Amino acid sequence: MNQNSIIAHRVKQGLKRITNIKNIIAITSGKGGVGKSTTAINFAVSLAKQGLNVGILDADIYGPSLPKLIGAEDYKPEVSPSNKFMPLDKYGVKTMSFGFLVDSSQATIWRGAIVNKALEQMLNDTEWGELDVLVIDMPPGTGDIHLTIGQKFPITATIVVTTPQDIALIDVGKSIGMFEKLAIPCIGIVENMAVHTCINCGHSEEIFGHGAKDKLKQKYNLDLLGQLPLDANICTQSDNGTPIVLNNENIANIYNNIAKLSLDKLAELPKDYSTLIPEVKKI
Ligand code: ADP
Repeated sequence: MNQNSIIAHRVKQGLKRITNIKNIIAITSGKGGVGKSTTAINFAVSLAKQGLNVGILDADIYGPSLPKLIGAEDYKPEVSPSNKFMPLDKYGVKTMSFGFLVDSSQATIWRGAIVNKALEQMLNDTEWGELDVLVIDMPPGTGDIHLTIGQKFPITATIVVTTPQDIALIDVGKSIGMFEKLAIPCIGIVENMAVHTCINCGHSEEIFGHGAKDKLKQKYNLDLLGQLPLDANICTQSDNGTPIVLNNENIANIYNNIAKLSLDKLAELPKDYSTLIPEVKKI
């Protein structure tokens, strides 16, 4: 796979694709703690390893975790001559997070309108360069911020992260429903913490049950992109600031496969030909 084979896809009516960003994929989840941010960064690094130009925007303004996940808590973006934030190039991915701009240990007490403005600025005023895919790590839930992002950001498609238990499905359903109403297609589900294998005896157990993926397929016709185990290494690596795809072959294979399947699904979406059509000028 190389960037020549990645083409731009259409965004929802009324929005214009950002010229230098071919596709925006939003990683969403109904609730926090299911592994959305972990999935987002490992997915982004997997895409970059496959030769794509990739960026990631941490849109979780109230709890930005990207700086920690990439071991860059002290990074402060410089401003380019054209007055844009310079993203941090880490692990082959251009990264931008609200956590780079404020002290992430401090609670952000901002009203919705200011949050929305800050997010729009981070998307539009970052020097992304040419990207095949910009991954957005969405905040958890389905509130006002999500609605604004869904309405104003030219998102190509979403990927939903869930854990396998029934209770997670209630919130996941809300998230899927919201993006459906916004006419933003979902290209599939990542089931995280699907199974745990004991390192001592090798016994595997579905600690959080199973069935979420089948129910989501049945109700929303969404395909499974991949399943990640509940594995202490994923957690440790995240805490150490190195995405696990970089040093664990088995887990890397799962994320790489998710990345490949996602690109296949993306390729099935309607293409964006708008930049090929010359603008009609009045004479
Ligand atoms: P979210 O973005 O949904 O809030 P995070 O990605 O921050 O969730 O993950 C929450 C916690 O769970 C983190 O400590 C992370 O390291 C851990 N975690 C995520 N996925 C797994 C997994 N498959 N196995 C073990 N721990 C995981």
